[in-house]
Amino acid sequence: MEKSSFKELFGIKHRVEVRINLTNVCNLHCDFCDHDAHLPFSKDSTKVYRRKPLVSSLSELKQLCESLKGIGESDRHVLQGGEITVLPVKTIIEVIEIFHSYGRNIGMRTNGYNLKEIPVDSLNKLNFIYLNNHGNNQEAIDSCQDYLSINYKGIIINEENYYHRDLSKYLHHNEGTIEEGINCSHLLSTITFFPPIIHPCCNSWALMNSLNDKNMADLLIEAGWTTTNSDLSSTLQNWRSTLPIEFFQSFCAESCYLTAKTVNSPLQKIKLYESDKILKK
Ligand code: SF4
Repeated sequence: MEKSSFKELFGIKHRVEVRINLTNVCNLHCDFCDHDAHLPFSKDSTKVYRRKPLVSSLSELKQLCESLKGIGESDRHVLQGGEITVLPVKTIIEVIEIFHSYGRNIGMRTNGYNLKEIPVDSLNKLNFIYLNNHGNNQEAIDSCQDYLSINYKGIIINEENYYHRDLSKYLHHNEGTIEEGINCSHLLSTITFFPPIIHPCCNSWALMNSLNDKNMADLLIEAGWTTTNSDLSSTLQNWRSTLPIEFFQSFCAESCYLTAKTVNSPLQKIKLYESDKILKK
């Protein structure tokens, strides 16, 4: 198959980054986490995505690479969570190996918790590492910066996110339009994979959590936005007709913070929680 970028496949102006959400588990409890990772797991939780931890399986990740052979291999693929270093080191090694063996441009985003347990040769199969500082994990970030400066050959990208948006304040604002969603610069520029679904923007998984919405997951699966689709590339290429209209209506137009006009909600500072494990000792 001819090699093409996701940007070419989608016919959009923006470079595309693929986010691979390996888990919704985290070692920290940042206030107002976009992925609801600050909320506990409980089988009786009213939040459908906090009833049990979710972890992408190796077979699902392989299926993604198989389905997209020849497409977007050079685009950035970011392994992230939750926090991916809470997963067993053996799993992290295998995940890196899968993407590396398929020749995809792979990196990770971490709060630094358990990064130093990952073998150096696996770390060096990552082309970039985002060190995501939330203020409550400064010790882990400092420790990783020192370690990576000696042991890592790729690019280190230091990020600072000390505040989170309270997404709940934006739900059902009904102030946007479907057209704003279709023309949104985030649409397709940050596709997010949480098996088996390929989400069309970085906010889709967060909105499913905030809205406590399982229906959109079903709609995206029905529409073929999943690695189980044997002709995934055509479905992605024809996104204007294959994405469910409900996505643009109930997510983009009704509840996304980007389309809100009058909601006035200050950013919320992330606090330190004494029980959080900053570094794996
Ligand atoms: S949900 Fe929000 S971020 Fe995603 S495409 Fe729609 S308007 Fe853009």
